[in-house]
Amino acid sequence: MSDLLDDFGRKFNYLRLSITDVCNFKCTYCLPDGYQPEGKPHFLRLDEIGRIVNAFAKVGTKKLRITGGEPSLRKDFTDIIRTVADNDAIETIATTTNGYRLEKHAKTWFDAGLRHINVSVDSLDPRQFHQITGENKFQDVMRGIDAALDAGFERIKVNAVLLKDLNDSDLPKFTDWLKDRPIDVRFIELMETGLHHNYFKAHHLSGDVIKSRLLAQGWLHQVPKQTDGPAQNFCHPDYQGRFGLIMPYSNDFCKTCNRLRVSSKGKLHLCLFTESGIDLRDLLQHDNQQDELIARLHEQLHQKKATHDLHQGITGVTKHLASIGG
Ligand code: SAM
Ligand code: SF4
Repeated sequence: MSDLLDDFGRKFNYLRLSITDVCNFKCTYCLPDGYQPEGKPHFLRLDEIGRIVNAFAKVGTKKLRITGGEPSLRKDFTDIIRTVADNDAIETIATTTNGYRLEKHAKTWFDAGLRHINVSVDSLDPRQFHQITGENKFQDVMRGIDAALDAGFERIKVNAVLLKDLNDSDLPKFTDWLKDRPIDVRFIELMETGLHHNYFKAHHLSGDVIKSRLLAQGWLHQVPKQTDGPAQNFCHPDYQGRFGLIMPYSNDFCKTCNRLRVSSKGKLHLCLFTESGIDLRDLLQHDNQQDELIARLHEQLHQKKATHDLHQGITGVTKHLASIGG
């Protein structure tokens, strides 16, 4: 079957699959008041997840990231990893987590087939970590990262949302921390979402600030690999770890887009910041609906726009990233 392509020649081989909107943290840029249920949630079941994975694998998906909300809060999280791992066409299974359950489960998840893990750590200062995430769990998350290194994950990525006047002076702490650890720290520029206009105005900072500091300190901008997606990566001969920058407001950010998203309620999102989601759930109920599902994916890809409109402050339907999966 033919790969998923859009009208701009971009090929989509990376799926971010959200499995829950629920989260136990209250990150100030995401869910400052914590998760607020809207009625009884009906998140994707394991059988529905299996059908999504099969359909996307048939049209060229090679990498699948399980996200949320906090994906590890699902009791069947390990079964979900196994379901994805059962599909040989998926070469890389990744997750993004707040690290809350990592210490206890890193090995089990690795054994189930998980290979890439991104842990969100917005500050290496425990008090500031608490201030940003609403949870006093810094040490637990750090022990989780150690457990992931022990479990065999070769390289772990740590996501830090870059926040003016909060963690923008933390670069030296992260640099020291990376010296002897094979970890990639990625600063993600704060993205404006529907609910957080004032927060965005107060705390958005361009990743260019970090880029200049890194270059001044001898970090080298690496030539991007095809699998890097939109991240810009930096390495240094004296450091085991690396830095990455994700700058959605930079020109050309969308040119290399290779990812699609499916929300925990079974909606296809062609971009984090545009349309309201295309329902797939009616075609996830039986195995014999796969051809129809694939036809819908191909058809909808024509709707994908060349770029988001974040520069104009148009944030689409995304109230916060926990609702689609970051
Ligand atoms: N709960 C998990 C976690 O925090 O890692 C996974 C879901 S979270 C929505 C995925 C990623 O999106 C996290 O690294 C988080 O820091 C990032 N994120 C959330 N809101 C954001 C925003 N407004 N701008 C940039 N990144 C954001
Ligand atoms: Fe939860 Fe992740 Fe959002 Fe923080 S960023 S509130 S951990 S979903």
